[in-house]
Amino acid sequence: MIQWIFILLSFTLIVWLGKILIVDREEIVASDYNPLTEEKMAEVSRGAILSADGKYLAYTDVAEDGSEIRRYPYGPAAAHVVGYIGRGQSGLEAILSGVLMEPSTLISQLQSWASEEKVQGCSVQTTLNIDLQSYIYDQLDGFQGAVVVSEPSTGKILALVSNPSFDPEAIVDDWEVIINDERGPLYARATMGLYPPGSTFKIITALAMYRNMPDWKLYSYECGGELLVDEQVIMCNDHRAHGYMEIEDAFAYSCNGFFGKAGIDMGWAALVGTASYVKLGNDFDFILDQNTSEMHLSETDVDSMVAQTAMGQGETLVTPFAMNMLTAAIANDGVLYQPYLVQAVTDAKGGVLRSVEPTIWGTVMTRPEADFLENLMRGVTEYGTASRLSDYPYEVYGKTGTAQVGEEEDSHSWFTGYTVKDGKVDIVITILVENGAETKQAVPLADAILSHFYGLQ
Ligand SMILES: [Zn+2]
Repeated sequence: MIQWIFILLSFTLIVWLGKILIVDREEIVASDYNPLTEEKMAEVSRGAILSADGKYLAYTDVAEDGSEIRRYPYGPAAAHVVGYIGRGQSGLEAILSGVLMEPSTLISQLQSWASEEKVQGCSVQTTLNIDLQSYIYDQLDGFQGAVVVSEPSTGKILALVSNPSFDPEAIVDDWEVIINDERGPLYARATMGLYPPGSTFKIITALAMYRNMPDWKLYSYECGGELLVDEQVIMCNDHRAHGYMEIEDAFAYSCNGFFGKAGIDMGWAALVGTASYVKLGNDFDFILDQNTSEMHLSETDVDSMVAQTAMGQGETLVTPFAMNMLTAAIANDGVLYQPYLVQAVTDAKGGVLRSVEPTIWGTVMTRPEADFLENLMRGVTEYGTASRLSDYPYEVYGKTGTAQVGEEEDSHSWFTGYTVKDGKVDIVITILVENGAETKQAVPLADAILSHFYGLQ
């Protein structure tokens, strides 16, 4: 009889723990910051954060005196994603705190009750390609900016780099230095940085032409290097006169006059309508904080403002992350997958307790529209402003951008594009280099990163 009661109690316990381990964890991952009690900190050893291939991005080490130390083997390279604990908390360390401090297995929980030892917390496997992430971080040395690399066929985020950065292990000791650094090393530029899109916005203007001008194929413009609107001069890059332009060459060479004039001819509503159609200004249900891209253009705006907006100036602001998502939708025939950074929750031995399946976020454009843009983006890399990327053993599509940020400062440099390998869309890469336009820095960076990713160096 007593044996039966014992079995029944054990069974109840297993069911109860099973509920914690499976059902509640889903809710915890989905929910925001989960505050921890002192008691829990004393009982559970915080789990690790891992790269896609199982390398430690954050783990708990035990010092000689028995105290726990949080280690970040990749230091500043992934700091904005992994985050830190110690001086408040940020990034995945903050958002997944509840998961990392949750007992990882029933046995671990039972053992801890039987002994004085700490329970192992769950680990989290991310989608980050840490080799790529580290390489990109090194390449950004000396620049301020951000790079986003994603897999459009699934929504996986492979790299999310912001520079300047900080060493999460030194967050307590260096706190004053870090927060007083006027470059803003704690700022996650990839997801939070709002920048004028420059000519990458011509993706939206070209799509607006396709959707609003039945004769877009015949639309032409004679570029003399500058477009005069409302007594304002809109110049082409390097004061270049492009000559007779139709949409394909205008996009490949990034002719401001062509797109400025097309914007005026279409009118403000076509631009605003298309930006809204491709979900510019929508937030993606992403685990890390993001700023929302914005576009301001209305009926009351004069033609010069419409022209400026059409060529990516005006008052439009986008994040590198949002630009990456737009590019991913083009790469994926109009279908945008939900971007995700956490692949699985595992026990301390790597056994998967819960994993994430790719899901569709939404259809952002039709397949013919995506094909139309893909054709234009091919011209950019074949013979246009990113022709440096023409000699790859796979196809590269893209758009460059130069975004003016004032009279005194050098403009920002953009590249956003994707690769197709063996007939299948592979990765999307978006690069923003602050004040990097003088040397058109984004394209050589794209070249270096793609060469590294494909092992061509
Ligand atoms: Zn031009």
